[in-house]
Amino acid sequence: MAAHKLLLLPGDGIGPEVMAEVQRLIDWLNAQGIAHFETEHGLVGGAAYDAHKASISEDTMAKAKAADAVIFGAVGGPKWDSVPYEARPEAGLLRLRKELGMFANLRPAVCYPALADASSLKREVVEGLDIMIVRELTGGVYFGEPKTITDLGNGQKRAIDTQVYDTYEIERIARVAFDLARKRRNKLTSMEKRNVMKSGVLWNEVVTQVHAREYRDVQLEHQLADSGGMNLVKSPKQFDVIVTDNLFGDMLSDEAAMATGSLGMLPSASLGAPDAHGRRRALYEPVHGSAPDIAGKGIANPIATIASFAMCLRYSFDLGDAAGRIERAIADVLDQGLRTADIKQEGCRTVGTREMGEAILAALDRQA
Ligand code: NAD
Repeated sequence: MAAHKLLLLPGDGIGPEVMAEVQRLIDWLNAQGIAHFETEHGLVGGAAYDAHKASISEDTMAKAKAADAVIFGAVGGPKWDSVPYEARPEAGLLRLRKELGMFANLRPAVCYPALADASSLKREVVEGLDIMIVRELTGGVYFGEPKTITDLGNGQKRAIDTQVYDTYEIERIARVAFDLARKRRNKLTSMEKRNVMKSGVLWNEVVTQVHAREYRDVQLEHQLADSGGMNLVKSPKQFDVIVTDNLFGDMLSDEAAMATGSLGMLPSASLGAPDAHGRRRALYEPVHGSAPDIAGKGIANPIATIASFAMCLRYSFDLGDAAGRIERAIADVLDQGLRTADIKQEGCRTVGTREMGEAILAALDRQA
């Protein structure tokens, strides 16, 4: 069996606590002979700053580039609030995303039946929800030039951000989204604002062309991003995969995520372009941060990081069966009434990080 090289970057705060549960899953998969993972570890964020005065070292960057996939915990915390701007903890994550060319951000919004009542939406609206938002991550208004604030000299200032997209950027993110739709329920919704933005006109045109040329078997629909946002809270189950730009994706993915409950449950993946062997650079991470308020207490929810690792199995290593087993194990422990403090519920048992990880492993053992 070919070895898969993983780089684990736990980071700061609760990062190491939740990553420890992923390490135990990796050991379990190796012991079961389901996969053969070789893992390396590195420092990132504040932990790297303490050791090297940089948010990620050159050595760790080289390991990230050599790895088949990177699993990232979280970075930051008050301890590093006053470090130089270029060495701030988040800079390590931004450098990884940039140098690994991560242009596609995948954010699933899955509502586990046992948690449907924790959503701010009605149970019938969210129960069974399983959608995927694909956000363009390296272009658009967050990066476009000019990006300035100019003093107009008359007591006024002018701020400019520029929304820019080239054809190739839209084509490659559209392909990621169409490919995902093919592996799911075969439907893609593209969202932009073509009614008021030129970039929206081009976005719509290019996605339509990619569909006509390469993905006629996938159902494609277009929605304006504002009404798409309404539909996400009105009837989210109408969606399968949504593809959208950097700015709209930032908001729509948070909106969809909250329909499903706590930050501690939300995984994500960031993918780069495929190389000559079809292998994409990839980084998997929970959506949450380092949660300094609960760090070191052993109460963090490890499910977001474990579910991110399941995404890694599916998208980097084609181990969809193993990913599905982990996702079923998560659903099982929730059905059994186990909850970490962030999702605690009357009538359920509150457990810590380690106990939640152990329960998921036990559920996997029961399936084996
Ligand atoms: P946060 O996500 O760390 O925490 C927000 C709230 O959610 C906190 O009350 C926290 O206890 C809770 N929470 C988060 N994850 C949880 C989990 N797995 N289990 C249980 N509860 C959980 O966001 P914040 O408080 O705004 O930021 C804290 C630090 O994290 C800051 O330094 C921030 O810059 C950093 N941050 C890092 C990332 C990242 O590494 N990708 C993302 C967001 C924030």
